Amino acid sequence: VASPETMSFQAEVKQLLQLMIHSLYSNKEIFVRELVSNASDATDKLRFEAIADPILLEGDGELAIKIALDPVARTISITDNGIGMSRDEAIQHLGTIAKSGTKEFFQKLSGDQQKDATLIGQFGVGFYSAFIVADKVTVESRRAGLPVTEGVRWESAGDGEFSVEAIERPERGTTITLHLREGEDEFLSAWRLKSIIRKYSDHISLPIRMLKEEWDSEKNEMRQSDEWESVNQASALWTRPKSEITDEQYASFYQHVSHDNDKPLAWTHNRVEGRSEYTQLLYIPARAPFDLWDRNRRGGLKLYVKRVFIMDDAEQLLPTYMRFVRGVVDSADLPLNVSRELLQESRDVRAIREGCTKRVLSMLEAMADSEDAAEREKYATFWREFGQVLKEGMGEDHANQERIGKLLRFASTHGESADQTVSLADYIGRMKEGQDKIYYVTADSWQAASASPHLEVFRKKGIEVLLLTDRVDEWMLSFLNEFDGKALVSVARGDLDLGQMEDEAVKAEHEKTAEQFKPLVEKATEVLKDKAKEVRITFRLTESPSCVVSDEGDMSGYLQRMLKQAGQ
Ligand code: ADP
Ligand code: MG
Repeated sequence: VASPETMSFQAEVKQLLQLMIHSLYSNKEIFVRELVSNASDATDKLRFEAIADPILLEGDGELAIKIALDPVARTISITDNGIGMSRDEAIQHLGTIAKSGTKEFFQKLSGDQQKDATLIGQFGVGFYSAFIVADKVTVESRRAGLPVTEGVRWESAGDGEFSVEAIERPERGTTITLHLREGEDEFLSAWRLKSIIRKYSDHISLPIRMLKEEWDSEKNEMRQSDEWESVNQASALWTRPKSEITDEQYASFYQHVSHDNDKPLAWTHNRVEGRSEYTQLLYIPARAPFDLWDRNRRGGLKLYVKRVFIMDDAEQLLPTYMRFVRGVVDSADLPLNVSRELLQESRDVRAIREGCTKRVLSMLEAMADSEDAAEREKYATFWREFGQVLKEGMGEDHANQERIGKLLRFASTHGESADQTVSLADYIGRMKEGQDKIYYVTADSWQAASASPHLEVFRKKGIEVLLLTDRVDEWMLSFLNEFDGKALVSVARGDLDLGQMEDEAVKAEHEKTAEQFKPLVEKATEVLKDKAKEVRITFRLTESPSCVVSDEGDMSGYLQRMLKQAGQ
């Protein structure tokens, strides 16, 4: 038998381990959640692979997690009969971080415990949390389908190196043994451990078993019996009736599917019947993940078919502009062997996508239009975190354009603050007598927008102007020509006609002035002939002497600059 081979962790893992051990100390019990969630993932994977290859079940299809304590050796072990790991997989999965975005992750780390804990949750590097409470971690595993002699033992003290060796392992799956650090004996209490499992893992859909405790009357203390009992409810949360699920259970399930330590902002849970039959449990997070704008990041929902886990990140179940949504869809119609390619073409998936999209919009509308100020405040939070993503929907989702339009929020000259709180309906409610258009200005920043010389005449007349400063705004505006029958018009457009709001006397006055300044205009036209299409007198400025405007149909200044930046 070959002796153990020692290997080095990837540099990022070393860094991460340091961070885990030193900065997550105040939240150390999360190791239970992370290891149980890995065990549950491993059984999901087995169940899925066994659809095509039933031999993998090796005659043992009763999937479960067992947690055992050894007070004398001071160890906790977590065993699953899931997919297991081969030697190479153990080296790969437990020694490196495979996820994309590793670099950004480390750049984002702030040293602030609270913030970093959330990041680690989102990043899903849960296995290493074992080292918060353990000074040695032993993993023994055998991948389903491999011979008994091809088991693997992986071991590390979390100090930069790990060892691997071949072992014989009759049982399929994985056992992770934590050798507790000095001072962590609280986790050797079965009572304490059970309460942590219930807190974090009650929604796990397979049984988590621990040995029953019984009273030893000779020694006058509790001792472990040799009978296993189930600690959790072990039914998939989304299959239970709403009335039987507490807010805490919903929140804890959210943390499981999203890897986010925060509570969700809102959720919706429904069984849908009709054209397509499925259950949806959709959450809106309270905070944007650090990689929301990363193109490689996968979004989407967890897909189950008749309670069998099929895949993570099923992007086809929601449009891209709803990539902030987390949750689960459990379909009764899709075949168990459905692939990503098949999802793309499926009519059932299309029905699910439409249904989920409508539900999310309803959820947002309920918050935005609520009588309850706390709900409206939630919508404000949503908008701050995800408003820019929702705006993409104006272009992406024509069928729901009108509903999305009502959910948009802007900064405006009414509030004189950078907060985006004004809806188009608010704006229309404040329109002046005779005003029939919605006016806006676009710029790189709120400062630039609110200082725009184009606004002068509007301020003077008391007409509100929307201040649009997000990157997506120009693009979005090309899909938002009007709202509620009112055209959206840039204040930077040439020959802006304030319509009935100009009175006749003023018009006559203007004509006289224009006549006086004709020679100046001719001179300026000559001097600027390569730079400007036309020079003309304007009455829209009240303090600045001049400004540049674009023609109807021309690109606005901001869009021109953006395209230039993008190298076009
Ligand atoms: P994540 O779960 O987000 O992938 P983790 O750090 O929790 O990240 O786990 C890393 C990887 O190690 C998993 O993706 C999986 O491949 C492997 N792994 C961890 N625990 C187990 C287990 N009990 N059975 C099989 N594979 C496991
Ligand atoms: Mg994990």
